[in-house]
Amino acid sequence: MLTLHKLIYRLLGFDLHEITTGIYTTSKAVPGIAISSSRLILIDVRLFHQLTSEEVQAVIQHEIGHQQLRHHSVWIRAMLTGKATTELREQQELEADAYAKQMGLGDSLISFLERALPALKDKPDDLKQLERRIQALRESVYN
Ligand SMILES: [Zn+2]
Repeated sequence: MLTLHKLIYRLLGFDLHEITTGIYTTSKAVPGIAISSSRLILIDVRLFHQLTSEEVQAVIQHEIGHQQLRHHSVWIRAMLTGKATTELREQQELEADAYAKQMGLGDSLISFLERALPALKDKPDDLKQLERRIQALRESVYN
């Protein structure tokens, strides 16, 4: 069934390949790592193929965390207005990371985030935010 969200993404030029219910890969570059809206999760197919199955599960649980914590409305608002409320978004990332950690995927999420670090070498603010997320996960996973 074609949901409104799928239709919107298709109109925006995203090819969608369902890997499991509600979760799709796309070959179009996804801003960030993955997009979660209230109805679907998109993961960059190039990234997807580099990941272990545990890392894929960690990414999916992180994105489900955004949905469960009802982050999508703020995310869409930020996307539509172009106003990246960076502090708010970082808080949401930390919360979604904590959700994945609660599912027992903290270690896998750390290894996934470490894979993403090199891609951010030219974006110092994003790099620092990712390092803070890894640090927060390390502290909560291992202590
Ligand atoms: Zn996130």
